[in-house]
Amino acid sequence: MTRNVFALTGAGISAESGLGTFRDTDGAWARFDPMRLATPEGFAADPVLVHEFYNHRRRDALAAAPNPAHAALARLETELAERGGRLFLCTQNIDDLHEREGSRHVVHMHGELLRARCTACGTEAVWHDDLTVETPCPHCGRSGGMRPDVVWFGEMPKHLDTIDEALAEADLFVAVGTSGAVYPAAGYVAQARAFGIPTLALNLEAADNAGMFEATRLGRASETVPAFVEEVLGERR
Ligand code: NAD
Ligand code: ZN
Repeated sequence: MTRNVFALTGAGISAESGLGTFRDTDGAWARFDPMRLATPEGFAADPVLVHEFYNHRRRDALAAAPNPAHAALARLETELAERGGRLFLCTQNIDDLHEREGSRHVVHMHGELLRARCTACGTEAVWHDDLTVETPCPHCGRSGGMRPDVVWFGEMPKHLDTIDEALAEADLFVAVGTSGAVYPAAGYVAQARAFGIPTLALNLEAADNAGMFEATRLGRASETVPAFVEEVLGERR
């Protein structure tokens, strides 16, 4: 019986909410150069451009609505908890669609669009507005140092220890809408296999690391995730 589920989500779970994925041919990175937009060096070279990119993405995320895949994972969290189990929800997404659909504990390993950080004093704050090179830090007052609190290429993802602990305690690993191209997240399936737990991928197209999963179901997340949640919860009735 499944009690502790580890779910890893990626851009594909938010695709049907209208937020573009990265690697798909029409994804964000096909149109924009990640080295200019999502690295500390790119930000240093052209902060105006990088702020514009994230301001657009923040506005898009605020305007987007969660879809049935987000809802199903929120339900899974609640119902597993009622039965003494747990859903550990680890997302690579920087949008807040999981939270808005009711997920209470979401680990954002690549940071959050709706948070900003001051590179001068380290203050972090909830942030729903545009950021510019003029934006003053709410704590130290300095301008020019505010940046989105997202993880760029070359930076360390967040909460890695918590994630490793949760993987070690899980008895089922499921990955949703992620291409398996960016590490360390792409390696979690291998860790799960090493712990001997079942591994399942729910994706539109086979991921780069598809061969690592015991099972793959191809389809839209809005259909495959609710079906998966029904199965997991049905198992325990
Ligand atoms: P991705 O765009 O790489 O992959 C999206 C996945 O979702 C694909 O496997 C696709 O088949 C699937 N998908 C698309 N629509 C779907 C739907 N409706 N239902 C189910 N699945 C669907 O996104 P990712 O895996 O989240 O990317 C991981 C991380 O990579 C991101 O968090 C980002 O930080 C980072 N990134 C890397 C690069 C790079 O160029 N190296 C670029 C951008 C982002
Ligand atoms: Zn500051």
